[in-house]
Amino acid sequence: MSTTETSAGTASAPSESTAPTPTQDRGTPERAELIRLARRVDLLEDDRPSHTVLSPIDGEPLGLMPIGTTDDVTAAITGARRAQRMWAETSTKDRARILADYADLVLDHREELCDLIQLENGKSRAWAFEEVADTTITARYYAKTGPKLLAETGRASAFPGLIRTVERHVPKGVIGIISPWNYPLSLAVGDALAALMAGNGVVIKPDSQTPYTALRAVELLEEAGLPKGLMRVVTGQGRVVGTAIIESADYVMFTGSTETGKSIATQSAARLVDFSAELGGKNAMVVTDDIDVERAAKVATIACFANGGQLCIAIERIYVLAEVAEQFTKAFAAATRALRLGSEVGYGPEMGPLASADQLDKMREHVTDAVSKGATVVAGGDARPELAPWFHEPTILTDVPASAAVYREETFGPLVSIYPVANVDEAIAAANDTEYGLNASVLCRDASRGRAIARRLRAGTVNVNDGYAAAWSSLDAPMGGMGASGVGRRHGAVGLLKYTESQNISTRSPLLDLVQRPSNPREYAERLSTALRLQKYLPF
Ligand code: NAD
Repeated sequence: MSTTETSAGTASAPSESTAPTPTQDRGTPERAELIRLARRVDLLEDDRPSHTVLSPIDGEPLGLMPIGTTDDVTAAITGARRAQRMWAETSTKDRARILADYADLVLDHREELCDLIQLENGKSRAWAFEEVADTTITARYYAKTGPKLLAETGRASAFPGLIRTVERHVPKGVIGIISPWNYPLSLAVGDALAALMAGNGVVIKPDSQTPYTALRAVELLEEAGLPKGLMRVVTGQGRVVGTAIIESADYVMFTGSTETGKSIATQSAARLVDFSAELGGKNAMVVTDDIDVERAAKVATIACFANGGQLCIAIERIYVLAEVAEQFTKAFAAATRALRLGSEVGYGPEMGPLASADQLDKMREHVTDAVSKGATVVAGGDARPELAPWFHEPTILTDVPASAAVYREETFGPLVSIYPVANVDEAIAAANDTEYGLNASVLCRDASRGRAIARRLRAGTVNVNDGYAAAWSSLDAPMGGMGASGVGRRHGAVGLLKYTESQNISTRSPLLDLVQRPSNPREYAERLSTALRLQKYLPF
């Protein structure tokens, strides 16, 4: 189990006597930082079982992470609950100030955070920095909007002047956050910022492969002024640590696969505890006949291969109008082949390795299956073990038959299929022919035509002339999935208020006695009818 320094009963101070780990003799500054973090989380203390975190950059061990238990979760939730009582009394202005300072700290520490993200996830630096930018934008957004959104608000009552009603937003308590490995900073901490702003404590279970970034992010939050112990990190297996969190948190925010999401929904429902689940996708792009081909090819390259395609909102299917299909495919393939591939910590390569051996296996499986059923590889197609053990080229397929797994299943890797279509109606029908509904994209020179197409697509976010970033970065608008892509939303007012219970406090004036409860029920009905007739002059 790993926890921040203040987690109940589990943290240990850095210890010089800690036994050497497989990382200690590797010597780079980045590794030294990981060792420092690992030591803070009880690394190798006693006989606690641990998990070796491998770096996708070279497939070598980064460090050991203790495998958490149900008891660790109980201690973390109890500690966070204790700290939360005081935090709920802290003014929203003070909470907002901490979030605003955190935004600055994240920017100040951007290089260090990018190092950690790259080391544990393998993504190229540009996409690591995207996480820094996203976390900064999110912290600022909730710092600016939180106090107003959370303020006690007067609400219209049935009898204005006679009943005074206010709505309050009461923090839920302790929010459990279960996050995946593909965005170790954004997805572990972004949702926590809203939960904290709303007055909650937080217990995070990051993916076992990417615990270090989450740990450092919590340290920085404490540096920004967050009370120690309010936000805790517990590492370990999903089935153990994740389940224990779901069994004791007051709300669960989950990001991950649809399969795990369904199991979390069942467990939360049994406790009558609310949850949000941001799940998988098989996101479609519609390319119309009026596009600027070169520009469209560039947008598609980012839409499909950002973060090595290991992005829930990445595009995996492209429906292109037949008139421009050949030109577009040629330009897109050329732009894809031109991507600088490489595996290193630094700003060099544009696409890094996949995050794990499992990811590479899934990618190989989908490419091989599609090709064996008649698909054509127009770019990429091969693993590149000379770059890193789990490297795979960004790959474009055409002629993909409906029987191929990649036709419907999410790959969650750098693999996209192009399907020429006769017209926009056919493109929309094909794009909507999926159980998922997370993200979509429309490339169209005429933006208003693009928006008209967007309105017909069944997806929680639709980007016109962009792949995903336009919608994701628009923090003021909610973001999430339809269908099998999720339940609930993050971002916007709903992304904050979901972490609260709404409380209605209504005060009755004695003047209401003039209307209510006369001894004669008929007289009461008459008086009330008169009052109800007057209601039509009220604004609601
Ligand atoms: P996953 O569901 O296997 O794991 C996600 C997290 O859940 C991990 O921390 C894991 O340890 C934990 N977990 C696993 N089983 C659990 C259980 N039974 N109970 C509680 N917790 C459990 O997903 P993954 O493979 O790590 O992530 C990839 C998937 O996540 C893809 O499908 C992708 O589309 C999706 N995703 C969605 C979004 C979004 O915002 N919609 C963002 C990123 C990733």
